[in-house]
Amino acid sequence: MSAVDCVNTILSALPDRWPIPIPSSLVFGTFLAAAINSWVLFDMILDQFLRPEVLSLDSKCQFSTFDYIIVGAGGAGMVVATRIANASSSSRVLLLEAGGEPSVLNDIPALDAYLVNQPPNTWLYNSTEQVDACRNCDDKKVLTLRGKMLGGSTSTNFMMYVRGNKEDFNRWSTEDLGGDPQWNYENLLPYFKKSEDYNGNWASEPDALTYHGKGGLRNVATYDFQRC
Ligand SMILES: Cc1cc2nc3c(=O)[nH]c(=O)nc-3n(C[C@H](O)[C@H](O)[C@H](O)COP(=O)(O)OP(=O)(O)OC[C@H]3O[C@@H](n4cnc5c(N)ncnc54)[C@H](O)[C@@H]3O)c2cc1C
Repeated sequence: MSAVDCVNTILSALPDRWPIPIPSSLVFGTFLAAAINSWVLFDMILDQFLRPEVLSLDSKCQFSTFDYIIVGAGGAGMVVATRIANASSSSRVLLLEAGGEPSVLNDIPALDAYLVNQPPNTWLYNSTEQVDACRNCDDKKVLTLRGKMLGGSTSTNFMMYVRGNKEDFNRWSTEDLGGDPQWNYENLLPYFKKSEDYNGNWASEPDALTYHGKGGLRNVATYDFQRC
């Protein structure tokens, strides 16, 4: 039985005393959002008291000079810092992050729809004014959320494996868009492949390795849980 079915069952067992019909998914969503909000706040307060060193650079840092300073411990920053540290153990690498540690709830991708609007862990950016989109938004700008915590947006994302469209990379790499021609899709494909350990739906297809890689650090596979 799914969680929504459970809520439906509970609601149908309640006496009929709602002034207006309330869709059960809305009730469920509201409870879930309130519970998650409370947990994130509680988690932050716990961090302040139990692990103040996480929030204080001074108490943690032994050095005052560094060979490399990387700003932002998100998807890109984490990889760059790890690569440099692994390549040279004598290098001093400082990885700066504006946010704190992710909540344990961030480990559950399905909860991201509720976690993405948590101000302490989220940058609430606005897009620039859109020409052909967002016509219903104020000033035709859309709220654009990004993760503000260790792991950056990877700590709040849905864990879907998404690779950019070939034509986008080719377009961005053209000089008339200010791009560097070296960043075209053909040149990037080997790096996408290198990062992957592909075990997805097409792993047994004869040309799977034309587009996907094996042995990389990132396991790409279909989810291994069952719908209940
Ligand atoms: C809600 C959501 C769902 C997503 N779902 C998916 C998905 O399912 N699949 C997928 O492939 N991609 C998904 N993405 C996109 C993916 O997470 C991002 O493309 C990726 O994380 C970008 O990596 P990044 O290093 O460029 O930025 P980020 O991972 O966002 O990291 C940037 C980091 O820099 C920090 N920072 C910013 N300014 C400063 C400063 N001045 N000082 C210190 N630190 C700073 C931020 O706090 C953040 O931690 C999702 C993104 C979001 C927001």
